[in-house]
Amino acid sequence: MLFYEDSYIKEFKAKILEKREEKGKKILILDRTYFYPEGGGQPHDTGVIGGKKVVGVYEKDGIVYHVVEEFPQEDEVFCEIDWERRFDHMQQHTGQHLLSAVLFKKYGADTESFSIGQVSSHITVTRDVFTEEEIEEVERDVNNLIYKNIAVKSYFVDKKLLSELPLRKKPQVTENIRVVEIEGIDYSPCGGTHVKSTGEIGILKVKKWERTTKGARLEFVCGFRALKDYQRKNHLVNYLMQVLSEKEEMLKEHLQKILEEYKEAKREIDILKEKLLKEEAESLIKKSEVYGGIRIVYKLFEGRDVEDIKMMGKLISAENKTVAILGNKRRDVGDIVIARSLDVDIAVNGFFKEVLGTFEGKGGGNVQFCQGGGSPSRLELAMDKALRFVIEEINKM
Ligand SMILES: [Zn+2]
Repeated sequence: MLFYEDSYIKEFKAKILEKREEKGKKILILDRTYFYPEGGGQPHDTGVIGGKKVVGVYEKDGIVYHVVEEFPQEDEVFCEIDWERRFDHMQQHTGQHLLSAVLFKKYGADTESFSIGQVSSHITVTRDVFTEEEIEEVERDVNNLIYKNIAVKSYFVDKKLLSELPLRKKPQVTENIRVVEIEGIDYSPCGGTHVKSTGEIGILKVKKWERTTKGARLEFVCGFRALKDYQRKNHLVNYLMQVLSEKEEMLKEHLQKILEEYKEAKREIDILKEKLLKEEAESLIKKSEVYGGIRIVYKLFEGRDVEDIKMMGKLISAENKTVAILGNKRRDVGDIVIARSLDVDIAVNGFFKEVLGTFEGKGGGNVQFCQGGGSPSRLELAMDKALRFVIEEINKM
């Protein structure tokens, strides 16, 4: 496991000691390797061995297993680590040491877990609340340590030396303990790969933090990830500035104003809509025919919002001695609404199922109001059926 000695080796030669297949996976064991196996929150390396792609690397009992897409033919192989991926992990990982060190020094917060994800990295710490100013101060301290370009060293220690070092956390292993030291700043047991001086981290930015059951979870990015994040956000800000014709420093205010205007406009639209629907309902009631002392409003609409039709049914049936049979033909569905006023003694839900049956509809309701949707081409048949039922019921009265 030579990555412990030098995390900057990207190419090396090795001998294949064993090829084995387990659960359909092709696995190689080499006499020496710089491939980092997943562990300690750091993902495994990828790359090629003997021209074949490495898709997984893991370690068990001191042996590194390389999962390859295909076995190489030769036994002495040239190996190459995907450096872009590895260096990115080294930036995130070393950045994490600094972030954890600053959080510990400032707030006595321990880092409970760490992981490098595809987009961001996360740590959970034993302090559950931060203000925006505190997070910004932590970021300033971390980046200050980055720009001081402090050496990062790693070494294996015996028990005696271990007890003399001001370790930030206890080691998770009892043997072969490796300490990663950010010179004079932070001592922490770690088996990962790190940059050789803090300047190579470039920058660290906390993207956000949230409370968890154990404390707080901080999401952060370092190096090229932070650059990518900045590029994406800058792009977004420029886009907003363009579509709103606004200066950057005024964007927040501008968006707040738009949101308020939108809410107000929506409120006005709702009021006007209800007014229009009321007028429409009144005109329909006026034009309706009276049968056995009861007004029947029978109307087929096209392309209306289903909520409008429901509202219309309610508005019409608010009038005494009235029954509404309303249809609404949309592209994919035909809506039907049957509503009656409180003083009309007809159980609408008593015949509604049969009405739905005539146009493959689904829906339901109560004695006073029923609503459903079905085939638009058979909607008129369903409405006629409903009308016949209503007349039948009126005749019974
Ligand atoms: Zn580390």
